Amino acid sequence: MKNSIFNYTLDELGQYFESIGNKKFRATQIFEWIYRHRVTSFSQMTNLGAKTIEHLEENFYFEELKVKEVFKGQDRTEKYLFELNDGHLIETVLMRHNYGNSVCVTSQVGCKVGCKFCASGRLGKVRNLTLSELVLQVLTIQRNLDKSGERLSNIVVMGIGEPFDNYENLLGFLRVVNYPKGLEIGARHITVSTSGIVPKIYEFSDFDLQINLAISLHAPSNEIRNKIMPINNLYSLDDLIPAVKYYVEKTNRRITFEYILLKDVNDSVANAHQLSDLIRGINAYVNLIPYNEVPGAGFKRPTNEAMQEFFATLRKRGINATLRMEHGAEIDAACGQLRAQMMKRNKKA
Ligand code: SF4
Repeated sequence: MKNSIFNYTLDELGQYFESIGNKKFRATQIFEWIYRHRVTSFSQMTNLGAKTIEHLEENFYFEELKVKEVFKGQDRTEKYLFELNDGHLIETVLMRHNYGNSVCVTSQVGCKVGCKFCASGRLGKVRNLTLSELVLQVLTIQRNLDKSGERLSNIVVMGIGEPFDNYENLLGFLRVVNYPKGLEIGARHITVSTSGIVPKIYEFSDFDLQINLAISLHAPSNEIRNKIMPINNLYSLDDLIPAVKYYVEKTNRRITFEYILLKDVNDSVANAHQLSDLIRGINAYVNLIPYNEVPGAGFKRPTNEAMQEFFATLRKRGINATLRMEHGAEIDAACGQLRAQMMKRNKKA
C-alpha cells in the first residue's frame, strides 16, 4: 500500500531512505520540493534521479484535501471547508492581519473536551487528524496564496479539537511547518491552544521548538470553569496554573489566556478581579473574545459596555489584555459552527 508523502517528518523520511540503503539527504531534497517549491508530482523533482523517482511513485502518493467550499468574509477572512478521504469535514480559517497572513488549523474531527459553549464539543470526537491532514491544511492554503504572491507567516492551532489529545501528530506537524527550507513558519509565529491537558503542558514545555502556548481559560474560578468546561473536573485550576507557571519559567515565553466572554456567566467586574488575582505575577496576556452565539447552546454575548468594563478592570489591575477584533464573524468563524451547519444541510439533502 502506498503512503502519503505528507505523513512524514524530515527525520522519519530520512530514516526511511537509510533503511532502504539510500541516502538520508534525499529527505531534505524531497522536503524542499514539496514544501518550498510546492510541486504536485514526483516527476517534477528533477535532482533526484530516475530510480529514486520510480521508487517514490511506487511507494508514495501525493495526498490531497478536497476543498469543498471557501467562504469569504468582508475582512478578506477565508474559511475553507475541507473534505477528508473518509468523507468527514473539517474547517480551516485564513485570517489576514496587518502583520501577515495567519491560518487557524483544526486538529481533530470533532472534540471530546465538551466545552458547553462550543458546537464542536457537542458533536463529540470522531477521530484524530493524521499528520498529513494537519500539514495539508496549511500547504493547500499556501498553494492558493502562491497564486497572488502571498505568504503565510503565522499558524494558530486553535480550530476544532484539542491539539494535546493528538499530541504525536501535533509535534510532527510543528516540525514540518517550521522546517526552514520548506514552509518556514518561525516557531515564534506558531501558537498552540489547549483547553488545559496538564501533563501535556509539562511535556510541551520541554519541546525543543519555542512554540507559543495559549490556554483556553474562559473562567476565573473552579466553580465557573466546572460549569462550562468539563475538563476542569479532571485538571482543575489548582493543577493548571502551576503547569502554566512551569511553561513560562521553562521557556521564558509569555503565555496567552483565551477568555470567551459569556453574559452573566463570567463577564462581571467581580469576575475580572478574580481573573486578575488568579494570574497575578504570571508573564501572561489575556485575549478577551466576545462570544459568537451558538444556536441552542444557551449562552449569550455580553453587551459591549459589559465587555469594555471587564477589559478596563483588567487593565486597571495591570493585566495585559486585549478585547479581540473578530475575524470572519459574518461567515460563522466560531469554532465548529460551520461544520455543524454543513452536516445539517447534508442530512437534509
Ligand atoms: S472549545 Fe475547543 S476544546 Fe472546547 S469543545 Fe470546542 S473544540 Fe473542543
